[in-house]
Amino acid sequence: MGLNDVKEMHTNTTMTDSPVVTDVLVVGAGPTGLTLACDLARRGVRALVAERAAGLFPGSRGKGIQPRTLEIFDDLGVIGAALESGGPAPVGMLWRDGVRQGEYRMFDEAEPSDSAPYAGPLLLPQWRTQEILYARLTDLGGAVAFGVEVTGLDQDADGVTARLAGGGTVRAAYAVAADGGRSAVRQALGIGMTGETVDPQPMLVADIRIAEGALDRDNWHVFPADGTDATGGAARAGGFAAICPLPGTPDFQLVARFTDSAGPDLSPDGVRKAVAARTHLSVDDVTEVRWASDFRPRAALADAFRAGRVFLAGDAAHVHSPAGGQGLNTSVQDAYNLGWKLGAVLRHGADAALLDTYEEERRPIAARMLDLSTRIHHGAARRGTATRQLGLEYRDSPLSADARTAAARAALPDGSPQAGDRAPDGPLGAGRLFDALRGPHFTLLAVAAADLELPSLHEELVHVRHTGACAPYEPGLYLIRPDGYVAWAGPDGRGLADHLTSTKLEVLRSCA
Ligand SMILES: Cc1cc2nc3c(=O)[nH]c(=O)nc-3n(C[C@H](O)[C@H](O)[C@H](O)COP(=O)(O)OP(=O)(O)OC[C@H]3O[C@@H](n4cnc5c(N)ncnc54)[C@H](O)[C@@H]3O)c2cc1C
Repeated sequence: MGLNDVKEMHTNTTMTDSPVVTDVLVVGAGPTGLTLACDLARRGVRALVAERAAGLFPGSRGKGIQPRTLEIFDDLGVIGAALESGGPAPVGMLWRDGVRQGEYRMFDEAEPSDSAPYAGPLLLPQWRTQEILYARLTDLGGAVAFGVEVTGLDQDADGVTARLAGGGTVRAAYAVAADGGRSAVRQALGIGMTGETVDPQPMLVADIRIAEGALDRDNWHVFPADGTDATGGAARAGGFAAICPLPGTPDFQLVARFTDSAGPDLSPDGVRKAVAARTHLSVDDVTEVRWASDFRPRAALADAFRAGRVFLAGDAAHVHSPAGGQGLNTSVQDAYNLGWKLGAVLRHGADAALLDTYEEERRPIAARMLDLSTRIHHGAARRGTATRQLGLEYRDSPLSADARTAAARAALPDGSPQAGDRAPDGPLGAGRLFDALRGPHFTLLAVAAADLELPSLHEELVHVRHTGACAPYEPGLYLIRPDGYVAWAGPDGRGLADHLTSTKLEVLRSCA
């Protein structure tokens, strides 16, 4: 779909000199932009996704989907497609001089449980994740304007005007820069990106096909730098490589490290040679090179996640080492945090100050993720509980308040949520709590609290669910945000209405 088609959808005109008018301009149709667009579409918020490229990203790049992101995919209605297309991460296999040295676990094992149904990580090529999100966006009536590059923007008190390459403008109430690590929008806003090089060596990432029988698909094959190549010659120093089968495809993802500053040769022949120089495979064993790119691992955080009416999300706000598989996941969760807030402001008239909490909540999370990814990159931390992202919380957020006493909170059993925590799953009637949470609404969960008086709440925006028990929730009331975090918890309803008022969520109260 080109700009003119989108323009027709938005303004019923294709005249090139009139701006396209929309509520939210999303710059970039990567995982961040697509997630945000899906969330806005299901909230009935008009959004225009402008994507510079002619189509969706074709590479497998961010292939590790963490359990927390799988929960978001469940809420967005794409979990079935993701699970069908992906698979578990295979066990690592260490090679030396063409000989298997044995298997090793790259991830600490975790089992699904009643409160966390997805153990993960799920291996899913990024191009497939994006296809799935794009299909969902289309189902929800949304669209992406491909071949549309945003080159700059201006803002005033009422909105943002973005300039497009090739002429034309888009006028929106808000804009979200989901345009990746080199974000032109971030640069146009003059927001700095502070960080460091995690590894000065250039890396190659490519999707390749390998001759039948030359390498099994049961393992994630790891070739350390000090091995020898197919001819017995010494591999180049620093010539580490890893080759991982990609579930649901005949492809493997190759990641190779280079020591020469010139960086990798991205041509098919260059990729074949990189494989042959680091592994026991020959140049001819690589039958096809489907996509190749290079990168230098960097950890950097945008100095701000917001400038006026423009928000930064995903790689535009933070770039990580790929080690530990955090980047795409953190990006999807940025979008998920911002979507409901934009919806509350634009659809339901919530105070725009609610949007301040996006940066307050997400920037500290991104900073911690940078640190974790860098430590994993250097072998100083494992891929385990933290990388699964189920423990991320917003306890210090102005949106979180727990009306229980400090003593009552301290006495909570392990895993019982407090305000700010991720809302765990649990049994609810004949089904699951996650079934009740699925959708764009808030949920007021009343556990063993049938006799309590509840404040009157907006029926469409807050679904009230009563239950006798819902482990690991202790008896009481829990207001759960649309993005699956406990906003407020209390032994009874006292203080909830005041909390909604003080957190700019007055719209959740019944207007009756
Ligand atoms: C080798 C490698 C492995 C990785 N593995 C993992 C992993 O296992 N797990 C994980 O979580 N993450 C991983 N990542 C990171 C992950 O790929 C990124 O974090 C993710 O792609 C970020 O998504 P995004 O939508 O923010 O940005 P991007 O994916 O970069 O998308 C930005 C989009 O914006 C478009 N665009 C750019 N400029 C403009 C403009 N001016 N106008 C319009 N459109 C524009 C681009 O064309 C692009 O489509 C890995 C990265 C690498 C390099």
